[in-house]
Amino acid sequence: MRRIAILFAAVLAVATPVAAAGQAAPDVTVAGEIAGADHQTYREVRFDVPEGVERITVTLSYDKSNRTVVDMGVWDPARFRGWSGGTRDRFTIAASDATPGYLTGALPAGRWRVLLGVPNARAESRAAYTVNVFFDRGDERRASAAIADPPLRAGPGWFRGDLHMHDAHSDGSCQSRAGRRVPCPLFRTVAAAGEAGLDFIAVTDHNTTAHFSGLRELQPYFDALLLIPGIEVTTFGGHANIFGPTRFVDFRVGTAGVPDVRTLQRDVAAAGAIMSLNHPALPSGEQCMGCGWTWPETDFSAVTAIEAINGTMTEGPYAGLGFWYARLNEGHRLTGIAASDNHDPDVTAGNPPPGPAPIGRPRTVVHARDLSTPAILDGIRAGNVFLDVEGTANRLLEVEAEAGGQRAVMGGALPGRRGVAIRAHVVGAAEASAELVRNGEPVGARQPVGSDDARLTMRLEATQACGWIAVNVLSGAGRPLLIGNPVYLTCR
Ligand SMILES: [Zn+2]
Ligand SMILES: [Zn+2]
Repeated sequence: MRRIAILFAAVLAVATPVAAAGQAAPDVTVAGEIAGADHQTYREVRFDVPEGVERITVTLSYDKSNRTVVDMGVWDPARFRGWSGGTRDRFTIAASDATPGYLTGALPAGRWRVLLGVPNARAESRAAYTVNVFFDRGDERRASAAIADPPLRAGPGWFRGDLHMHDAHSDGSCQSRAGRRVPCPLFRTVAAAGEAGLDFIAVTDHNTTAHFSGLRELQPYFDALLLIPGIEVTTFGGHANIFGPTRFVDFRVGTAGVPDVRTLQRDVAAAGAIMSLNHPALPSGEQCMGCGWTWPETDFSAVTAIEAINGTMTEGPYAGLGFWYARLNEGHRLTGIAASDNHDPDVTAGNPPPGPAPIGRPRTVVHARDLSTPAILDGIRAGNVFLDVEGTANRLLEVEAEAGGQRAVMGGALPGRRGVAIRAHVVGAAEASAELVRNGEPVGARQPVGSDDARLTMRLEATQACGWIAVNVLSGAGRPLLIGNPVYLTCR
């Protein structure tokens, strides 16, 4: 990585700490000094952007102790690209999204200029400043592209979210002030998720990144709700949500640029995202065009998750549970998730399938190291995840399995040849019963949960301990309430 350090003649001759701890080193650092003579003047900080840069992130730090104020904005080689005055100390610009106040679009190579305006510098003052510039290209990401950075909440825990919803940037709609059906503003969708008490959402408009800048605008206001950028990649052979992409991903499978679904899958990974197959068991055809997942050459090692429940389709042939279990039985390790696929934030609970589901019902509950986009994506990858079908605020399903002196939680693997002991911690489902599932089929009788904070034990004999196991919690009528992710058993 080329690093250019331009030091102005008047700068302090000390090494500038070029990046905060834990960050990559910037591609360009420019340090300088604002003195009293700079009062009400502009200064240009020039830097060269090489070919192939996909995101530019700029940070400004300066000594504010003498009431010096520095405004900031930027021009690309041809045009104005944004201004934040003295309000911000960083901005990011990409083709897909930009900090509020900045303009998305192509990032032409050549000489860019950060403009520093000085509305105030006292006569005898001297204030050192540093401008750092970070370039992202390909999978080389120098500054965090996450919309929420740093994490909204520190420390590990269970986080409740909804990973699939739409707004005005695709086919989401709601009632206007006058009662007409209109494309629904992103703000309404995010506000409904906040009202539902969720910890995170992924907004997944069809094939576009147009909502990413809106998420950047809304994230500081919704400071307890992590906003994960998503795209519902909508192809003629099925829909897949991708979570955390940093750019557009070409959805046109079957054209010259994307000859097959494996090319699409490689591009998803290159864009820094994980892939989940949506409502995979829906029919495909005139009834629901391209809804079911039908690409025959899918590389399941490049799929992270399966939407086992979409909206109100919790059971029956259209639910994704059977599709997920069938892939697990083929030996793929895939995390099951649940999501509303909401298209209208005013929808409330109580619609029978295939009616619409409200935001947050069902929800996916992920064990993650903190509440940030990288941690939630890693949590989905790791698979210590359960599905809360009714989208409650408190239900919990923790599973730990033990075999051969080793322990594993959901998503983990154990040697199964000497039998497996399973412990399940179930909260908020006293009237329900728990079921042990092995390779998709129930094992033994259901066990009453019995209390609001129950600890259950189950056992799988050595002769059965091959493949995968999971614990599900069912209502008295046998409807799924909590669906666990698998613990994988290796039998050789
Ligand atoms: Zn879809
Ligand atoms: Zn959708």
